[in-house]
This record gives sequence, C-alpha cells and structure tokens, in this order.
Amino acid sequence: MTVAEIYQTMDYGVAPESDKQARKWLTDHDRKFGLYIGGRFQSSNSTEYFETTNPATGELLAQIAQADETDVNRAVEAARNAQADWWAWGDHRRARFLYALARQIQKHSRLFAVLETLDNGKPIRETRDLDIPLVTRHFYHHAGWAQLMHAEMPNCEPVGVVGQIIPWNFPLLMLAWKVAPALAMGNTVVLKPAEYTPLTALLFAEICTEIGLPAGVFNLITGDGTTGAFLVNHSGVDKIAFTGSTEVGRIIRKATAGTGKRLSLELGGKSPFVVFDDADLDSVVEGIVDAIWFNQGEVCCAGSRLLVQENIADKLHQKLKTRMETLRVADPMDKATDVGAVVAPVQLERIRSLVNAGVAEGAELWQSARECPPIGCFYPPTLLTNVSPASLVVQEEIFGPVLVSLPFRTPAEAIELANNTRYGLAASVWSENINLALDTAAKLKAGTVWINSTNQFDAASGFGGYRESGFGREGGREGLWEYVRREQGTGNREQDNANPIHETTRNQHENHSNNVTEQAVPSLDRTPKLYIGGKQARPDSGYSRRVLGADGAHLGEVGEGNRKDIRNAVEAARTAAVSWGRTTGHLRAQILYYLAENLETRSGEFAARIVAMTGQTVEAANREVGTAIESLFTFAAYADKYDGAMHRTATRSITIAIPEPLGVMGIACPTETPLLGFVVCVASAIAMGNVVVAVPSEKYPLSATDFYQVLETSDVPSGVVNIVTGSREELIGVLAAHDEVAGVWYFGTADGAANVERLSAGNMKRTWVQDETESIASLEAGEFLREATQIKNVWLPYTDEVSW
Ligand code: NDP
Repeated sequence: MTVAEIYQTMDYGVAPESDKQARKWLTDHDRKFGLYIGGRFQSSNSTEYFETTNPATGELLAQIAQADETDVNRAVEAARNAQADWWAWGDHRRARFLYALARQIQKHSRLFAVLETLDNGKPIRETRDLDIPLVTRHFYHHAGWAQLMHAEMPNCEPVGVVGQIIPWNFPLLMLAWKVAPALAMGNTVVLKPAEYTPLTALLFAEICTEIGLPAGVFNLITGDGTTGAFLVNHSGVDKIAFTGSTEVGRIIRKATAGTGKRLSLELGGKSPFVVFDDADLDSVVEGIVDAIWFNQGEVCCAGSRLLVQENIADKLHQKLKTRMETLRVADPMDKATDVGAVVAPVQLERIRSLVNAGVAEGAELWQSARECPPIGCFYPPTLLTNVSPASLVVQEEIFGPVLVSLPFRTPAEAIELANNTRYGLAASVWSENINLALDTAAKLKAGTVWINSTNQFDAASGFGGYRESGFGREGGREGLWEYVRREQGTGNREQDNANPIHETTRNQHENHSNNVTEQAVPSLDRTPKLYIGGKQARPDSGYSRRVLGADGAHLGEVGEGNRKDIRNAVEAARTAAVSWGRTTGHLRAQILYYLAENLETRSGEFAARIVAMTGQTVEAANREVGTAIESLFTFAAYADKYDGAMHRTATRSITIAIPEPLGVMGIACPTETPLLGFVVCVASAIAMGNVVVAVPSEKYPLSATDFYQVLETSDVPSGVVNIVTGSREELIGVLAAHDEVAGVWYFGTADGAANVERLSAGNMKRTWVQDETESIASLEAGEFLREATQIKNVWLPYTDEVSW
C-alpha cells in the first residue's frame, strides 16, 4: 500500500513489531526446552517432546518436554524441600524476591510480549499494553502482601506445596495471578502451563534463576492434560489452583474430593453485557469491542451475551456493525491489529462448529466484509441475532470472537435473562441511571460486575466466579486466603515466628555494611542546604547551625530555617499536592520501592553517619538503616492496599468508605533514631498521597539532609517532600499555625505538643502528638496510616422496590 493510498483510505499501514530478540532467544535454546525443577532446567524422564507453534502462521516455534509421572514427583519433591526455608526466610525477604521478579519482568517486558504474541496469536498491542503491565503490577502488588503478611494475616501460615494449572488464553498473566500470591504467602509452586503456550512460562523460569530465587521455590513442568492430572493426584500437593474449562474443573473437583487438598477453580463463563435504553450508546459500542473482541474473545469473562433493551436494539446493532467494519483482523505482530489469531486449529474448529450449529438453529449471522488473512487460525468478529434464551450459542461458552444478542423489555427481564446461565463469572451493566445500574448489579449472580465499563482487572481486586464458573478468588486481599491456613505450629506464635523478619533483615544489613568504618564517614565540610520544591535552597536567614558528633567533633553544618523557609516549603508542597494526591497507589508504591533501593545502595554511608552523630554501635546503626529500608517496603506495600471498606449501613445502600490524604502535612520528626524517624514519618505520609514539610531531628539532622540525594534519584516529584532544618519548636509552630497545612505530626515534649495543638486551632487542622521518649519503632504501621488519612463515606442507595 502506498502512502497516497493510505491517505485516501485513511487505513493503517503495516507496522510490524520486530521479533528478532524473541527468535534469538529461541535459537539460543536450540528451540528445545526441558523442565525447570529445583532451580535448573533438566531433561524429562519421558524424553518425549511436543511442539508449540505460531497460530498466525503455523510455524513451529519450539520443542517442549513432556513431563511424566516421575518428573511430576521430582518437581513436587523439589517444592517440598524448599518450602520450609522459603517460609522461614520471613516476609521481608520474600517481598524482596517478588519485587525482584517484578523488576526483572519489566526489564524484559518486550521480549515477554513478543513471545506471548508468537505463541498465542493475540495482538502485540494487547500483550505489550495489557498482559505484561498487568503481570508486573501483580508481582509488585504481591511483593507488598509478602511484606505485610504477618501484620495483615495474623495467625496464618502457608498451605505448603501448591500445584497450579493454567490455560492458554493469558499464559503469563495467569501464571502471575497464581504464582505471585502463592509465593508471597510462603508457599512453593509446581506450575503446569497449557500445551499451546508454554514459552513465556519458560522465560519466567529463567528469570527466577537470574534473580537468585532459591531452588525449588518455583518449578515448571510442561506437558498435556495427563501431566496436569499427575499433579492433581499427587499426594504431596497441598493445594490445587486451576483455571480452565468447567469440564476439566469438574474432573479435578472429583479427583481432589476427600483428599484434604485445598482447591480453587476459575472456570468458564457466558457473561451478560446488559444495555439499558438510557445508556450512552457510543461508549457501549466501545465497551462491546473490549468485552468480546479483545483477545479474540478467548476470555473467560468475555461479555459474550449482549442483552439490549428492545427499543434501542436496532440502533445499537447498526452502530455495532459500523464499528465492526473497522476492526482489523490481521497479523498479531502488527501494532495496528485489533483481532489476532485464535490459539489453535482445534479451537478455530470449535468456534466454527458452534456458530454453524447456532445458524442451523435459526440465528442470523453478521460478519464484517473485511477479509481475514488467508493462512493461520483467524476468525472474524461475529454478531448473532435472532437467538432465544435456550439457543446453544446463548448457553455454551464459545471462547471466540462471537457475540450473541437478545432483546429484553424490562429491567426485571434483563436480570432474569442475565442470570439464566449455569455460569456466574462476570457481568457488565450500562445505564446513565446510577440507581438502576446499582440495583441491577446487586441482583446479578456474578463474581464481578462492571458498571459502564468492562474487562477491568487489577491485582488489588479479587476475581472469580459464582456457580459453575468456579470458586475461590484471585487477586486482592480475598485472593490471599486461598494460599494460607490457620497456623498449625506449636501454638506459640513468638516461638513459631522466631526471627523471620527482623532477624533476617538485621543479618542482611549487617553483612551488607560490614565494612562500615571510620573512613566511611562523609567528609566534614559538606554544608547541606534546605530542600524545597525538589531543589536545595539556601536558608533565608543566611545562618547555619553546627552539627557536632557524639565525641564533640564538628561533623558539619545545616541551614537555620525560619518562618519564610517554612512558607516557601508549604507553597512548594501545595503546588505538588494535587497531582501527588491523584497518583495511583501503585505509582506511589513504586517510588517508595525506589527509595528503598537507593537507600540500600548507600546503606554503609548512612550507617556511618548515624554512628558519627549519635555514638551508637555500628550494629545498632546498621539495624536502624535496615529497619528504615524495611519500613519503606512496608509503606510501599500499603500504598495500594490501605483499602477503604464497604459499610453495611441499615438501608439498602452501598456505603463506600474511602481513605483520602489530608493534603499538606507538617512533621516534626523524632530526635532519636534520626534516619528511621524521618523515613517512617515521611514514607507513611506520602504513601497515602500527602505532601510533606519535614523538620528533621534537631540534634541529628544529617541523616535527613543526606537523604536529599536518595529523594532526587528515586523519581519523587518536586515538592512532595520538603525538608527544613533548624529549631524544631520554632519551625513546627509556624507549620501548626499555617492555614495551608492540613495536618501536623509532632514527636517531642509535652510542652511542645501543647503548643502545636493550641496553634493548630486556626484552621482546625488535625494533629498527632507523640512523646519523643517513646521509640518510634514501638508504633504500629497502622497508626501512621490512620493518622495520614481521613475517611470519606460515599453513599450509593439502591432499592428493590422500584419497578423500572
Ligand atoms: P482445559 O480446561 O482443557 O485446559 C486448561 C489446563 O488444564 C491446561 O493446562 C490443560 O492442559 C490442563 N488439563 C487438561 N486436562 C486436565 C486434567 N484432566 N487434569 C489436569 N489438568 C488438565 O481447556 P482447553 O485448553 O482444552 O480449552 C477447552 C475449552 O475450555 C475452551 O474452548 C474454552 O471454552 C474453555 N477454557 C476456558 C478458560 C477459562 O479461563 N475459563 C481457559 C481455557 C479454556 P493442556 O493445555 O495440555 O490440555
């Protein structure tokens, strides 16, 4: 096609993604892969291989080992041998591994995306922009749950060895949904990917080795359904997590019944997509495209049953057909492709035969005039109308780009039709009337209901079915329960959990910084300025104050901040507040993790500074730095997990309690443990979306001023953290009286606290005052988070009694 022709038709030119790296990766492995057991790739006992091919071209991609029963035994044994240590390593270390997995997948994201497209046939646009970002998000999010396991899941322990079996429609994403929570909760895993799509799981196994994941924590056995069955029936497996067809789910339910094995099943669906006559039809059309033509319709929660109010049905069908004409069914490696290849010839045949059967039953078929590529497993976007609730195509999961449409007259009829299925995975409701939408959502039997949207997924929200769509949830806090059980140790929690967290952290940081010596103390003549709006600023007073070491030596100077500096800092914070408050918890978490990484890189230097200022032992200083790093992990973890709640108010209402940031916060940090005090206060506040003006320890300010460099290298936006050194009482007094400051924390004396509370009366700002003789480490993370947020309750009433 020439540029002139493209200009005439306004059609897309070809925009192929390069597959060079992916092909090199395949060639580097001689296009032949073994099993990943006990931390290394090895041949299968069976010595048999099966082929994986590219469904868009039929090209052979690689030979994959077929695991037999002996291989499954070996994998389960490796997982068993690794499990106790993996759990005993403690929350923080597991969190670090999950974090490392997230980072490593992110670094190889394009290779993952291309491999997934080659192996599965889905468009590169989807693997690149949806699958792989969701995978990394899942590992980041669960790094947080690992960090918080003891705090948030008290009296729980891992289930043990988990067997996981996944399908081919979202190969790496399903791996992430299963592996991340299992590992976070201290389990070890044996995973079987689908026969059609094993490649990204194999690359993931390589990444486990790259990050040094202990051998046996993750094991990968490739093979067909018989391999899966060996895993299901293995007596050494404590839990099975399965995603796939309801038929196989039923077999697994029967096989595990009475064995004591835990089970979660995420099965098929025939999800309703309900459109009321007041819906915004243009949005509805785009919603339908996402619901059924995303991923070629090979989505367990695809909105495959369109239920449309009768008076707008023709209009909607017409708009839909116009939109269908623009969908490009083409080479999945082309960045402008909308619909790629179906996973395999057998699946293509299944779609064809179900559609043919539907037409034979009387359905009217409509497909766009656009041609599909001549070779490869392609099937065009399809609309079937003139069907009845009992039609085969209305009841059966087609698992392809096929939408069936039925009309309804009243909301009650819509609900009845929507629930007229053996499944209950998901549903979408479209209406501009929030009462109608909520009322309908409440009456639909489905694990997830999207209002005026569809196919929304996130690691923070659980996903799973009602009825024959299975049971158990994946994602969110509810997903964690699938991977834990009540503690069955000695009953003595102290003893059972002896040293899993702090001890390991301490050792780690002691090893890390064991070369902290006097020479590591930074040079004496550095004079840090204030830190305002992301820049170092000279104090308005033009004065500096001396900082002396524990031995009386002159360690350096810091700026003497005054009223004007505080005003500038508040202004900078105020400017940053709106956009920081709107960032997602996920982004804030990532920035906090960067802070932890960058602090760790310089941990020796920070420990040396603490030793010089306070006269503490090297061990104590290392411990303080280690705990500061760990607390950055903790608040990163909470950034996207400090959820609100859905209150059960007496009327039929959805009452959503949302924790919101206060805004600009002034914080007088504790005097002792100068680094930890500063880090805990600032990290907890910004994790919740606040911006901060911090007054560091007056006596030991250099830990906070050294922290400028860490802030600057960690993508913290300017103005989110501002630091003004000087007299604590004077500076916090200005902050307490400032009208733009919404909350003040004060760690200090009783007199100082009284003064802060008095001065705060001007704009009735919230205050939190603490006696500074109490160690900051004795406070719970939850107290900081509560003090950093205020709850907004949103009431969404709905009622049964209205007839629409
Ligand atoms: P399956 O349910 O057969 O496969 C899912 C996974 O289970 C695969 O890894 C499969 O291995 C494995 N498996 C198959 N048989 C057994 C067994 N007896 N014991 C243990 N594990 C087993 O789905 P299909 O891939 O065959 O797809 C068939 C239909 O299932 C699709 O057309 C679609 O309707 C539905 N499906 C639904 C999915 C969902 O997410 N709800 C996902 C995938 C399919 P192997 O790949 O080697 O066969």
